[in-house]
Amino acid sequence: MPFARLNTPLDLGFTQIKNRVLMGSMHTGLEEEKGGFEKLAAFYAERARGGVGLIVTGGIAPDFFGRLTPGAAKITNDKEVREHRIITKAVHEQGGKICMQILHAGRYAYHPFAIAPSAIKAPIAPFSPWYMPNWLVESTIDHFVRAARLAQRAGYDGVEVMGSEGYLINQFLTYRTNQRRDVWGMSFENRMYFAAAIVSRIRHATGRNFIIIYRLSMLDLVENGQSWNEVELLAKRIEEVGASMINTGIGWHEARIPTIAQMVPRGGFSWVTKRLKGKLRIPLITSNRINTPEVAEKILQDDCADMVSMARPFLADAEFVKKAIEGRSDEINTCIACNQSCLDNIFNRKTASCLVNPFACRETELILKTTEKPQKIAVVGSGPAGLSAAVNSARRGHSVTIFEMNDRIGGQLLMASAVSGKEEFHETLRYFRRQIELLGIGQKLNYKFSKSDAPNFDQIIIATGVKPRTIEIPGEHIGKVVSYIDVLNRKVEVGHRVAIIGAGGIGIDVAMFLLKGSHPETINDFLDKWNIDVDVKNRGGLKKTQFKEKPSRQIFLLQRKKGKAGSALGKTTAWIHREELKKYGVKYLDDLQYEAITKDGLRIKRNEESILLEVDHIVICAGQISENDLYNELKDSSAIVHLIGGANVAGELNAARAIKEGTELALSI
Ligand code: NAP
Ligand code: SF4
Repeated sequence: MPFARLNTPLDLGFTQIKNRVLMGSMHTGLEEEKGGFEKLAAFYAERARGGVGLIVTGGIAPDFFGRLTPGAAKITNDKEVREHRIITKAVHEQGGKICMQILHAGRYAYHPFAIAPSAIKAPIAPFSPWYMPNWLVESTIDHFVRAARLAQRAGYDGVEVMGSEGYLINQFLTYRTNQRRDVWGMSFENRMYFAAAIVSRIRHATGRNFIIIYRLSMLDLVENGQSWNEVELLAKRIEEVGASMINTGIGWHEARIPTIAQMVPRGGFSWVTKRLKGKLRIPLITSNRINTPEVAEKILQDDCADMVSMARPFLADAEFVKKAIEGRSDEINTCIACNQSCLDNIFNRKTASCLVNPFACRETELILKTTEKPQKIAVVGSGPAGLSAAVNSARRGHSVTIFEMNDRIGGQLLMASAVSGKEEFHETLRYFRRQIELLGIGQKLNYKFSKSDAPNFDQIIIATGVKPRTIEIPGEHIGKVVSYIDVLNRKVEVGHRVAIIGAGGIGIDVAMFLLKGSHPETINDFLDKWNIDVDVKNRGGLKKTQFKEKPSRQIFLLQRKKGKAGSALGKTTAWIHREELKKYGVKYLDDLQYEAITKDGLRIKRNEESILLEVDHIVICAGQISENDLYNELKDSSAIVHLIGGANVAGELNAARAIKEGTELALSI
């Protein structure tokens, strides 16, 4: 049987979970939307139908103070219970199980009523929290218990108590955030009493047949975080007071270490959960960067945990588990850990979706129906826009042929997948290739579509993408100036001293490619680079010594405007890219003008001073322009012609917009 461990039921005594896959908690933004509970019900029901063992909802606040943002969802009364019943009913009808996560933001709250054990502001929060007097600590515990009782009344199979990622419970646990001199502070025994009291009282209030998952911060990744000894003590106490399972939390939100982004190697933190294996009787759940059934199965086989948690992979593919256990894992649309349409959307106060699956969180509005009028459709260009248009058109019953000038499909996806840390784009290509095969989509590679081909089709989708913007700098360009395309395709041998013109996403990608190549980083290299202490000898799991490596190249990353490199990139990843550039000694210069290219390098003007950057090569990453000549040629032909993706609008192009546009067009034809 494929993925035998993954597909083994987990017996909790009073209930059984049908397999070892937990859909981890993830806020979608639907929680706060008008009609959001119906949409959430459809979202979770689809995942339950897709075979996941147990679902945990996004965090729901137990009270007014605990909300993450002013309008964030909470559960405090019967009206809210009725709304949650819509979700639990829908999930149970699909044979699924679901727990509600109770999350109190503490000092991470984005509103002026933030509270915390000590009035110490978080580096990532806009408001200083209010100190919690004793009565407020007690009433907050009561509110956690009330939330669990209401969740039980709403039909949930259990709750997850959010004790990690730096939220309120976690804030009670460390001296960093809890400097109280009363019964809630001073010693670890006192500091963990808040967490233990919540779990113990929830168990008392909800009885024995109710799942209580405690999400425990096993590696805080912040200064003055918990020691490993404290983590173990807490885990044992949480077990004693009645938790059914312990889930793994890695890193506080204020930690300056990537924990789930694309550059984190797959399964990069399962070793942390493994450290607790054998110390407890209740099942342990591991998490972070588990995105394929193969990785999940290996983690279970290696006995790192009893269950694996994945959140984003269920945005990418609702049928992840079903496909895996039916031996169709090559059909899974894999989460590429880009964060672009999920977490970045949430940070921008938008509803989450998924770069590779725009249907996610739009289950009630984006509906793929079989067409009543099958058409012959040509898709010209096989980047993300073309591929999504082709696949979704074919799913609807149209006859589709893809035309591609290259010898391989993929367009910009091929380029992105060449960069170390971005290998996950290979999975998107694998997914599309498999869908093309399954749907019988025709492919003409090395083919230049022209006007003479148009009469063979009813509709033509032009997805010819973008071409690099060329720029004018006076001087001797020959042999010195190269395009990023030739660099990423390894068509040029780039020297040791390099200037990159343009510090957007592609400029940064090229810098990383020149420094790290295309090889994925190993878990050990990753941990080493980010100063993570695998022996957890230091508090928070941080090493005292800092990573230092002599970079293989000297790189200048340049931008005319004033501001940070990659300022248009997503909030959850831009800072990581900038940290990496620093670690590799990339010199970033902004607020400048390009004066001339000479045989010795690139002359720039900065602060009224003319400076020569002595470099062997200058790589142009100055943005893109639309490649839409074919559209202009065809737009008056007899076929209906559509223009999508970068070929339509090049500015701010990214794979998320391209895939979304391709999908939406396919649904409208
Ligand atoms: P971009 O983000 O628009 O950056 C273009 C860079 O070129 C800017 O630094 C810009 O700064 C510079 N530039 C523009 N015109 C120039 C000119 N005439 N002369 C000199 N410099 C010029 O474009 P990109 O880097 O090509 O990325 C394209 C899209 O793909 C973007 O939407 C990007 O977000 C996305 N992408 C995302 C990722 C990711 O990791 N999420 C990775 C790669 C690409 P100045 O004009 O100030 O000099
Ligand atoms: Fe995964 Fe990116 Fe989709 Fe988020 S947007 S679920 S990180 S593929």
